[in-house]
Amino acid sequence: MISPILEELIKAFCRLPGVGPRSAQRMALYLLSRDRAGGRLLGEQLQRAMMLIKHCRICRTFCEHEQCQICTNPNRDQSLVCIVEMPADQLIIERAGFKGLYFVLHGRISPLDGIGPEELGLTQFMRHLQQHPVAEIILATNSTVEGEATAHYIAQLVRSLDIKCTKIAHGVPMGSELDYLDPTTVGLALAERRAPN
Ligand code: ZN
Repeated sequence: MISPILEELIKAFCRLPGVGPRSAQRMALYLLSRDRAGGRLLGEQLQRAMMLIKHCRICRTFCEHEQCQICTNPNRDQSLVCIVEMPADQLIIERAGFKGLYFVLHGRISPLDGIGPEELGLTQFMRHLQQHPVAEIILATNSTVEGEATAHYIAQLVRSLDIKCTKIAHGVPMGSELDYLDPTTVGLALAERRAPN
C-alpha cells in the first residue's frame, strides 16, 4: 500500500455493514481525490454523532438529551407502548402513523451471542412499567425466529404485570424485517394486532 494512513482509512470504511475492501477503497480514494471537503465534513459529523448521541433514559432510542422528543411529548398517547428491535423499525412505525410511545431493544434475544433480557434493557423497562403503567404493549419485533422468541419472552414478562399485550401480525411476511416493508403494510400490521401466541 502506498500510504499506511490510506490503508487505515480503508480498514475503517470496511467496518460499515455491507462494505467490502473494494468499495471501502473506492470511497477512500474518492474522498481523497475528488471531495476533501466532503471527507472533512463526514469526519466531523461522525465525531459529533459518536460523542453527542446517546440513548433515551426511558425508551432507549437514540437522542441527544436524557429523554427523547417522543417520550417528552405530552401529545403522544401515553397508554400505548410499541416495542421494536432497532431504531430503524421505530422510524418505519412512526411513518405508519403510530401515535404512542416506544421501547427500542437495540437487538433481540440471542443466547448464542450472549444477548439476554439484561442486554436489551428489559429489566429496567419492566421496572419503569411498574411505576408508569400503560394500557397496552404492542410487540413489533421482526417475524424472524429470534424476533418471535423475543416477542414471546416479553409477552410472558408483560403478562406478569397484568398489562394487555398484542403483537403486530397481518401483512408482515414470515421471516421479514420491518425495516424493509412499506409504511402502509406496517400501518396495517399495527391496526390488525392481536394477542401473541
Ligand atoms: Zn424516549
